[in-house]
Amino acid sequence: MNAQIPFDNSYARLPADFYAQVAPAIVDAPQLIKVNRALAAELGVDADMLETPEGVDMLAGKRLPEGAEPIAMAYAGHQFGHFVPQLGDGRAILLGEVVDTAGRRRDLQLKGAGRTPFSRGGDGRAALGPVMREYIVSEAMAALGVPTTRALAAVTTGESVFRETPLPGAVLTRVASSHIRVGTFQYFAARGDEAALRELSAHAIARHYPEAAEAEDPYLALIAAVAGRQAELVARWLNLGFIHGVMNTDNMAISGETIDYGPCAFLDAYHPGTVFSAIDRQGRYAYANQPSIALWNLTRLAETLLPLIDTDEEAAIAKARDALSGFSDRFNAAYVGGLQAKLGLGEAREGDLELAQDLLERMAANTADYTLTFRRLCDAAESGDTDAGVRALFDDPAVYDEWATRWRARLSEETRPAGERAAAMRRVNPAFIPRNHRVEAAIVAAVERQDYAPFEELLVVLANPYDDQPEHAGYAEAPRAEERVTQTFC
Ligand code: AMP
Ligand code: MG
Ligand code: MG
Repeated sequence: MNAQIPFDNSYARLPADFYAQVAPAIVDAPQLIKVNRALAAELGVDADMLETPEGVDMLAGKRLPEGAEPIAMAYAGHQFGHFVPQLGDGRAILLGEVVDTAGRRRDLQLKGAGRTPFSRGGDGRAALGPVMREYIVSEAMAALGVPTTRALAAVTTGESVFRETPLPGAVLTRVASSHIRVGTFQYFAARGDEAALRELSAHAIARHYPEAAEAEDPYLALIAAVAGRQAELVARWLNLGFIHGVMNTDNMAISGETIDYGPCAFLDAYHPGTVFSAIDRQGRYAYANQPSIALWNLTRLAETLLPLIDTDEEAAIAKARDALSGFSDRFNAAYVGGLQAKLGLGEAREGDLELAQDLLERMAANTADYTLTFRRLCDAAESGDTDAGVRALFDDPAVYDEWATRWRARLSEETRPAGERAAAMRRVNPAFIPRNHRVEAAIVAAVERQDYAPFEELLVVLANPYDDQPEHAGYAEAPRAEERVTQTFC
């Protein structure tokens, strides 16, 4: 284990207009909330060192680790459909990159460490609540098996940040396979800087899609590869009931990782139109809109590369369109495959999607909890007389019974033993998700009472989301009416 952080900063070696050099703010009195020791080990970073006063100062941006080259990355982006030619890291500072113990290059970024040249009117700070939400939800996503940025650590700064009221300030150390976004490409396209687009593409390809370098046209291969990963990512989100909340093009990572946990949330009761984000008034980023928004964003990515694809614009558009054409098939295959697995269908059959959709429609009409329905379906798959749990989730249980008759008929076409089927279903239908009301309760305890016990316990539960944890059964439950959190804020 290295007592220092073994930085190797490839992004900082790109041309100077890709970023701004910045120094993190010197904060007052940083205090440790948590170091993610397992992730530190994966990165080859000494967790004990991070927990020393010097380490905590580093995690707060107060002291620079040796080898760090702090920069704020430049990017643009479509926010709710409106193009902003310059956004950039306004409250995030990339310290640098490390090559982890498995040979993967990972960014280390401080989120909330002060103003940068991209801060515009913002203060460059993060409040404790959003830092905790990102920590909890990104780590839960990782445990659920979803590609995502990670949380290495969280610290408080000892300073207040001013939102509607003064709130405790905090800094999250985020780990990502890179922070290159669709918006990074848009930044250079908006400036007509083809040389930068070539350089950025080469960098992104080398880092994330090395096979694209061998393709006849690496730009088209890059577009197709990003589209494929995003298709699979969004399918996973839908299968798990996750709503990102702010799928602006600056919040879509080229790597295919989920990034930027703002007003995100998991469904409780299933409804395809669900929106949690307080700022998403039109429902642009509603649960069921996510695949079409992903494709919209990918189309914006493809547009940035048109001049590199063909000097003839019409020809370039036709080729780019072709490169994006795989998105729908990749999405549908992943989404439908995910639903089949959730329903315990081991062999794909015609009609499976309709069977799943029928269930979803019945759930929506009966305010059935998404996660519990599928988890309790695992019990129902075990034998014919274990439907009580899932039935009880439907306002009218008879609506479930009608569907279950169809489902059992379909299951009977397969020979897989029921116990095996149920076990496979439990590996894809989590018992535990970061439910909104639990996340809120953990935040409130920390902000109002400096009590981090609920945060710690939630992290323990969410680290093994597919295991029954009888001692934590309450965490699997849906919120009672008075506990329900229907709006989230970034
Ligand atoms: P987001 O909605 O989190 O994707 O942020 C959109 C843009 O606003 C990004 O350029 C952020 O860096 C910037 N931003 C968000 N919050 C702040 C803040 N408190 N101070 C400065 N910039 C911010
Ligand atoms: Mg963002
Ligand atoms: Mg954000």
